[in-house]
Amino acid sequence: MASRYGKKFDRVLRQLRKECPLKTPMKVLTKDLGKEKLCGCCYAYLKPNGKIDHFVIEVDRNMGLLTAVDTLLHEWAHAMDKEANGIPVEPHRNTWGEMYARVWRVYTNMASDPMP
Ligand SMILES: [Zn+2]
Repeated sequence: MASRYGKKFDRVLRQLRKECPLKTPMKVLTKDLGKEKLCGCCYAYLKPNGKIDHFVIEVDRNMGLLTAVDTLLHEWAHAMDKEANGIPVEPHRNTWGEMYARVWRVYTNMASDPMP
């Protein structure tokens, strides 16, 4: 079944899983984040030994499709950065910026492909 944001959003998510894969399990859900005043967030759940057990990305369910996709890309980059470089003190550090550029490239390559 398609998610709250429909097939296009799900397609971006599938492409990210394929081209920017994580070694850590990742769950993406849409949720009402209006109260928190957030577009999205990326939680890293830790094992007792401090290693990352799994990620959960929450995307606010009250946005337009393009904002939702941008939020997904932004949060996916956080997961890649945390997995590769550890949990940051400054979340939008340079290594996160590099990951964000990578996920955006996946998305823009998709957009220039003809839709199947
Ligand atoms: Zn962020």
